Amino acid sequence: MMKHISILGSTGSIGTQTLDVVREHKEKLNVCAITGNNNIDLLEKQILEFSPELCCVMKEENALKLKKRLPSNIKTEIIHGMNGLIESAIYYKSEIIVTAISGMIGLKPTVAAIKKSKTIALANKETLVTGGKYIINLAKKYNSQILPIDSEHSAIFQCLMSNHKKTINKIILTASGGPFRGRSIEYLKNVTLEDALNHPNWSMGKKITIDSATLMNKGLEVIEAKYLFDVKPKQIEVVVHPQSIVHSGIEYWDHSTITQLGMPDMKVPIQFALFYPDRIKNSFKSLSLLEIGQLTFEKANLEVFKCLRLAFDALDIGGTMPTVLNAANEALVNLFLNRKISFLDIGDINERIMQKHNPKKIETIETILEAEEWTKRAISSF
Ligand code: NAD
Ligand code: MG
Repeated sequence: MMKHISILGSTGSIGTQTLDVVREHKEKLNVCAITGNNNIDLLEKQILEFSPELCCVMKEENALKLKKRLPSNIKTEIIHGMNGLIESAIYYKSEIIVTAISGMIGLKPTVAAIKKSKTIALANKETLVTGGKYIINLAKKYNSQILPIDSEHSAIFQCLMSNHKKTINKIILTASGGPFRGRSIEYLKNVTLEDALNHPNWSMGKKITIDSATLMNKGLEVIEAKYLFDVKPKQIEVVVHPQSIVHSGIEYWDHSTITQLGMPDMKVPIQFALFYPDRIKNSFKSLSLLEIGQLTFEKANLEVFKCLRLAFDALDIGGTMPTVLNAANEALVNLFLNRKISFLDIGDINERIMQKHNPKKIETIETILEAEEWTKRAISSF
């Protein structure tokens, strides 16, 4: 049976890999809507290849440019802005919404899709971090299923199949350690943007690549895991595993530990989310443990990689604190990408913003949006 999907952020790393999965299974997957920020060259190619019914470009002028370029027989409707993004997320035909957009901009379209009881194939972890329990409760209320694409959470989700959540002792959340694994604060004082963008195992968008270097990515994933699997922060153990082969796991009450392994290839968790609960054949690379030889594990250094500690702190404090940490981090990563602050500033300023914030209980989406706005103001006054 054909599954109809929308891809929010089709021009990015997860978005293009989702389209690779669609190419593998053309007879089973149909792309109804795609969205991009401003890369209209790639959107044009994607329209010609996949003939979606909707394509959203953020800026209106770029949407017009794209419209002019398309041959007259193309039926794809070109829309723009946040409204266009929301329209793509709630398109009547789409059953699964792949949230491959980066950052908290993904919140509103994801909320809109949940309210239409769509299945969410969630890559955009920032949405869950900023919205937390609000998102989870909303999904329950509207009977919308959230299937994680993040490789660690897909692994945990798979390790949970045919087991009971309440029998979890702990979640083992693996981390590659990023490009600065084993480095000292002294060393990190002088690292450049280029050093930070040079991830050893994964090729990803810039925001998540920087988050992987600061270990904030793992911090956001701790928060994501807490909400997805309803465990206590203390039950989440972060383990640095530089080979990125063990994608995460669960230890149960009986001290049996189940983990999920595979090549570091995001197409695997993307396909899993799109076809859940089915396993479908594909042409992806097979894992050879003999070729890999060694799987090693080490402790994460929370003093050097302060961002990971801050994420645990934010979860303990609760309320809008994870929202604020997520928003502060997003703004700071942008400043770092624009060479306005240093690598270590990211952790230091995140910490100072958290210290300034008086957390509130999250009952509505307005509380989340206000906390995000408060954070943007707090950052700009630094
Ligand atoms: P990316 O930067 O490669 O792509 C981001 C996509 O979002 C692009 O299509 C871009 O056009 C769109 N976008 C960005 N800002 C936008 C804006 N303001 N308005 C509208 N569209 C906008 O990022 P990515 O690496 O594909 O990551 C996407 C999400 O998936 C992130 O939340 C990331 O944490 C998560 N994720 C990524 C990976 C990975 O391997 N890349 C793994 C796990 C989770
Ligand atoms: Mg991950």
